[in-house]
Amino acid sequence: MSKLLIVGTVAFDAIETPFGKTDKILGGAATYIGLSAANFNISSAIVSVVGDDFPEADLKMLQQKNIDTTAVEIVKGGKTFFWSGKYHNDLNSRDTLDTQLNVLADFNPVVPESYKDAEIVMLGNLHPLVQLSVLEQMSVKPKLAILDTMNFWMEDAFIDDLRKVIAKVDVITINDEEARQLSGEYSLVKAARVIEKMGPKYVVIKKGEHGALLFHKDQIFFAPALPLEEVFDPTGAGDTFAGGFSGYLTKTEDISFENMKNAIIHGSNLASFCVEKFGTERMENLNRGEVQKRLQQFKELTQFEIELS
Ligand code: AMP
Repeated sequence: MSKLLIVGTVAFDAIETPFGKTDKILGGAATYIGLSAANFNISSAIVSVVGDDFPEADLKMLQQKNIDTTAVEIVKGGKTFFWSGKYHNDLNSRDTLDTQLNVLADFNPVVPESYKDAEIVMLGNLHPLVQLSVLEQMSVKPKLAILDTMNFWMEDAFIDDLRKVIAKVDVITINDEEARQLSGEYSLVKAARVIEKMGPKYVVIKKGEHGALLFHKDQIFFAPALPLEEVFDPTGAGDTFAGGFSGYLTKTEDISFENMKNAIIHGSNLASFCVEKFGTERMENLNRGEVQKRLQQFKELTQFEIELS
């Protein structure tokens, strides 16, 4: 069976939305990716770092989902990565209030021996040099390397490192605002073309409640987001999408463009659950029946018969 190697932050988040506010709760890109990919019953491992202020119970929760956390380094006396954000009333945009790299600032990732031949590598959001180092440690070239990142790493201090890792991956997943920032193009079609020239053969642009686009050469595929009655907290939706996308490709062992379309649907489906509760709560308690039922709703939402004359 194929394996999925996940890299990304394991973090504390403090979130404010129009519906409420949380103190430090469990968050981080790798946390959301892992929880989402776990829905496919695959073998996965997280490479990350936390301080000794990080609760053991949270690591245990990930392990219970069959996620290998032996490569989550615990730094003695160190403080866990902290991020705080505030959402605007439309919930589609947010301001980052604080980012404290803490133990992430001098993290040297070590890929476990048993994952150096993982078929799929999901480089979740964190320092681009950490993402690059993980790719370089692979003993077998992965069938597919997928990269997710955010505007924080597009600032002057990191952009050269980010470009280095972008040049080495097959797929990039970013949101619309970041695609525009990275490419300098307003049109997402033009932005995807510019980004493809930087290295990735496939560009996925996430548009929050407006769905996601997959670009590959001249082909474009679009998947809507499921219209939801209740959205409480969009934090982690992008990572949950990436976890569903990479988890499904790992499970099916098929990295064709056609199968990536299904992967986009699975990613969107799982992300629709993530936003229903604060933090990771919904993803921690999700069951197979709920996932299948909503997948059916997705199918009905997008299926239509049309006569072309
Ligand atoms: P998303 O809502 O999918 O963009 O992801 C939100 C998660 O990303 C939160 O749980 C944060 O802990 C994490 N995060 C925020 N900023 C960064 C950053 N600069 N690098 C890595 N992870 C981050």
